Amino acid sequence: MNILIVDDQAFIREYIKNELLSLNYDHNFKIFEATSGNAAIEVLEESSIDGGNCIDLVIADLKMDNGDGLSIINHLATSRDKSISLAIISSSDIRTLELISNIVNGFNLNFVGVYQKPIDVNALLDNILKNQNDKELAPEPDVPVLCNEYNITELLNEDNLFLCYQPKIEIASGDIIGFEVLARLCLKGDGFIYPDKFIPLAERAGLNCQLTKLVLNQAISQWLLFPALKSYSLSVNISAGELMSVEFINYIIGKHNSNTDIKLMLELTESQDMINQEQTLQALAKLIINGIPISLDDFGKSYSTFDRLDNIPFEEIKIDKDFVCDLDSNSQHLAIVEATIALAQKLKVNVVAEGVETIGVLEKLKTLGCDRVQGYYFSPPIEGRHLLNWIDEYNKQKEAIYAKTNYKPKINRVL
Ligand code: C2E
Ligand code: CA
Ligand code: CA
Repeated sequence: MNILIVDDQAFIREYIKNELLSLNYDHNFKIFEATSGNAAIEVLEESSIDGGNCIDLVIADLKMDNGDGLSIINHLATSRDKSISLAIISSSDIRTLELISNIVNGFNLNFVGVYQKPIDVNALLDNILKNQNDKELAPEPDVPVLCNEYNITELLNEDNLFLCYQPKIEIASGDIIGFEVLARLCLKGDGFIYPDKFIPLAERAGLNCQLTKLVLNQAISQWLLFPALKSYSLSVNISAGELMSVEFINYIIGKHNSNTDIKLMLELTESQDMINQEQTLQALAKLIINGIPISLDDFGKSYSTFDRLDNIPFEEIKIDKDFVCDLDSNSQHLAIVEATIALAQKLKVNVVAEGVETIGVLEKLKTLGCDRVQGYYFSPPIEGRHLLNWIDEYNKQKEAIYAKTNYKPKINRVL
């Protein structure tokens, strides 16, 4: 078991480490240490790429400089892999610890518990073993093959790139307004690699602009091949780092100018440090001036996104799926979504809720005044070759969906 201990006080890390090692009868514990939340996130990111050293358990202090325990909770809540166990340690009072428990439970994390300092490592280990037994008894989910070790430079080419498209629906009319392109890499005979694995690798290898160019070209070819698609917008994901390349910005503008009948939109995943930089702001301004609207993706994930909205004329903001998918049962998430929609309305920015999985959530979003929705309730990402069929089917069933009759979303497989 790989265990990451996060505390800014060396003697506490040392104490937990010694206790763990003294209880480690099978000698299979590997201990990692970090002195802050930010340093822990780096270790977690590195370990998720390095398959052999995946962290199984994080034991984290709540109050630290440079990224507190909450930033680790936030990080785990927004990563696809929710299997990492988390134990929080703190000298805060019991009410604060209860609040933390509620927050963590709301995020559906693999939560071991909150422990007051000085912690009882024995009790903590007991809880982890109990969690593990429960997990072993649960049936294995049917997950496509994922591969941890591969060479991104070799894999990232036109032949291995496989695009899926997920519809964006206007809530008021039920009309399809566009599609978001979601990339997968195809390992021949060995399933798909999903973006949460290959995007960090591409970024690290400096290949993220190349990835976007490949995605943009393949998606535009799809739109040109089936001209009926031109009535729908085409949203391509980019990360803020890509805005630093002038050559890349000019490439996108060139593609847009030679395909003016395609309604291209860019979904920007922001990185807090990047987006305020002068060069990034200038790149965004250049894209917007050239008629390419920008959608601010994953809104709500980062704490300080609100002040961005009045600086940059975004076309839309997308509320992150982690807040949306359970808003009918999670009052904290509901409050975040409600506040975001109210803010967007005030600033006259369209708001898209992603991760709509049930009619209950859809109905709630309607009452909150959300403009657009996206999610498994309507469709998982669709293979390009099935897109026109899906549109036909959807349009036929639209009346039924909006009349709230017996619409059963058809989810054959999640791509
Ligand atoms: P995103 O832009 O927030 O995309 C939405 C993700 O949520 C997609 O995962 C999609 O399959 C999934 N999803 C859609 N509806 C639902 C739902 O109802 N419930 C749940 N639980 N999930 C839903 P995917 O395709 O694995 O993409 C993950 C992230 O990878 C994307 O998040 C996006 O940020 C990034 N990404 C995907 N394709 C590209 C790309 O071509 N370029 C770049 N730079 N990033 C990409
Ligand atoms: Ca997106
Ligand atoms: Ca998102």
